[in-house]
Amino acid sequence: MGLNHTHDPQARSWVESANRPGADFPVQNLPFAVFRRARTQEAFRGGVAIGDEVLDLGALAASPLLSGEALHGARLCALPTLNDFMAQGPSAWRALRHALFALLEDGVDEPRRQAARACLLPQAGVEFAVPARIGDYTDFYTSIHHARNVGSLLQPDRPLTDNFQWIPIAYHGRASSVVVSGTPFRRPMGQAMAAGAPAPVYGPCARLDYELELGVFIGPGNPQGRPIALAQAEEHVFGMCLLNDWSARDIQFWEMAPLGPFLGKNFCTSISPWIVTLEALAPYRLPFERPPLDPQPLAYLEEKSNREQGVLDIQLSVCLETQRARVDKTPPAQLSHTSFRHQYWTVAQLVAQHTVGGCNLQPGDLIGTGTISGPAREEAGAIIELTRGGREPLALPNAEQRAFLEDGDCVILRGWCEKAGAARIGFGECRGEVLPAR
Ligand code: MN
Repeated sequence: MGLNHTHDPQARSWVESANRPGADFPVQNLPFAVFRRARTQEAFRGGVAIGDEVLDLGALAASPLLSGEALHGARLCALPTLNDFMAQGPSAWRALRHALFALLEDGVDEPRRQAARACLLPQAGVEFAVPARIGDYTDFYTSIHHARNVGSLLQPDRPLTDNFQWIPIAYHGRASSVVVSGTPFRRPMGQAMAAGAPAPVYGPCARLDYELELGVFIGPGNPQGRPIALAQAEEHVFGMCLLNDWSARDIQFWEMAPLGPFLGKNFCTSISPWIVTLEALAPYRLPFERPPLDPQPLAYLEEKSNREQGVLDIQLSVCLETQRARVDKTPPAQLSHTSFRHQYWTVAQLVAQHTVGGCNLQPGDLIGTGTISGPAREEAGAIIELTRGGREPLALPNAEQRAFLEDGDCVILRGWCEKAGAARIGFGECRGEVLPAR
């Protein structure tokens, strides 16, 4: 996917907040969400972020401002979920993006600007919903640094499993408990086995963790029995969001042999409201490189375009706001900062792997990338890595300590792309607060 005028770093919007340095949502971004005015019973509908505002695609679809393929796309976005728009594919997504860019760019004529302004609402006054009806959710495990960090806690002499460098590993997750940012959740109850104990105990999770991930929303699906080839995989990707795969480590490690995670993961997964399209991310592509001494991907996971530009340089951070920090009004503590570019497998390889056996993906399906941990210790995407299994608690700036998450803790994920010569593309935030077990 090449660059075009919608990536021009000089482009500005007549929505002034979109032009502020450091803004997540300049006119080059245009991410999608589903929203309504807060504390109303309005129908949810699609919207696009521009600066501090949301462009209401329901209102826009009812106006005379769009035509042709862009109007068709906006009408599909006026529905309470984006599945039908996601199913349309890259040409429809591009048509709407380019029409919205033309409408929001500085220099659009005054009557059109006035009419578009009438479709804007302040983001501060809206509430969001999960943007798609998620039929299926799959979570991968694609950071070799995360795999080594966690693997060394379980098997110090052999942290990487034999398959890690050959297969993008995943488990089938739970779609029903995916929630949008800002939705609190209860600490899960479950069974855990302490090291050396004669029997497991049932109780509230004692080792609650987060996982810094990106979510991938699937666009057009594939018929069962017909895999998506690596070269076509990105045509099936609508866009990406932030994802927090909350993990109950004590429950997870007791239950996951031999079939994988179950209750340790299925109580809640949080996603950011905004989905950033692959077209918006185009300036931030990098080559896919495998260290020469590592196994090279098998042929079905190897392809020219994936080699040349399959990697995305998305910067990510995790902050923790404790209950006490909230009361004292001290800022959240940053726990880590890394980039998605360190992952062992690309988004296209995840889609190809998911379908190679014949599994059918459907529009609105959600794929988690797996925890994103970079090479340095302070780049780890889960607290179990930062505290080495809870043995080395983190000292927070307000003198609190954390080995794992406590009740009242709010975890805030952020994502953004930034470099000289390109517009900053932000993902906004993904927040979630831990409530006490019931
Ligand atoms: Mn995960």
